[in-house]
Amino acid sequence: MGNKVIAIDGPSGAGKSTIAKELAGRLGFSYLDTGALYRAVALALREKGIEPEDSDEKIASVLKGIAIAFKDGKVFLKENFQLSTLNSQLPDGRDVSEEIRTTEIGHYSSVFSARKVVRDFLLDVQRNAALNNNIVAEGRDMTTVVFPDAWKKFYLDASLGERAQRRYRQLKEKGAAITEREAEKDVAERDVRDSSRDIAPLRKADDAVHIDSSVMTAGEVLENILKAVRTDH
Ligand code: C5P
Repeated sequence: MGNKVIAIDGPSGAGKSTIAKELAGRLGFSYLDTGALYRAVALALREKGIEPEDSDEKIASVLKGIAIAFKDGKVFLKENFQLSTLNSQLPDGRDVSEEIRTTEIGHYSSVFSARKVVRDFLLDVQRNAALNNNIVAEGRDMTTVVFPDAWKKFYLDASLGERAQRRYRQLKEKGAAITEREAEKDVAERDVRDSSRDIAPLRKADDAVHIDSSVMTAGEVLENILKAVRTDH
């Protein structure tokens, strides 16, 4: 209690990660990438052979055996975690930060994130991150569900074309075989799925500051947010 949370929501490719990371660095806050948590869950579920149409019980049985943590910009997946307390001085579990960045895991994270059983599982992980730290948390439901009483709230948006371009360049840089058309299709599909799901759909909270980054540089977005953060306490 008493820690400050800056909550940022917005669609895929709006630049949330870049901004949130930079903002956290500037303010000396911890950074929480909740998309990475959903991606790590998707990876764990897929590794256990779970399909999108599988039952809640089947998903729950996998979730029971895993723990997920976000630390220093990295996401860790721990399996059979009750056995690994012996190694508690080691980093918590397997570092899956790179593995979760494929388009395939991006797709499955969006699919599985529509399931209540998955969202409930990650709720505590996300709230616990704010227990002992001031944090900048970014995702789809930070301002609406996870941190409705956040100190500051922002909704970061950009046009579909611009977001698709950014996603394309990002994946290309990582050597992914993807065309601009595919990047746009992927972003558009995720928009629909993330905004139309029944639980915690992506939407702008009434009290969130709306920022359209389509024609702004990351530096300009950051300055805007810093100004809003510094105006009152
Ligand atoms: O932000 P990123 O693209 O890494 O997120 C992966 C997926 O996780 C999103 O497409 C979205 O479906 C889901 N997600 C979510 N709620 C969050 C963060 C991410 O449903 N708070």
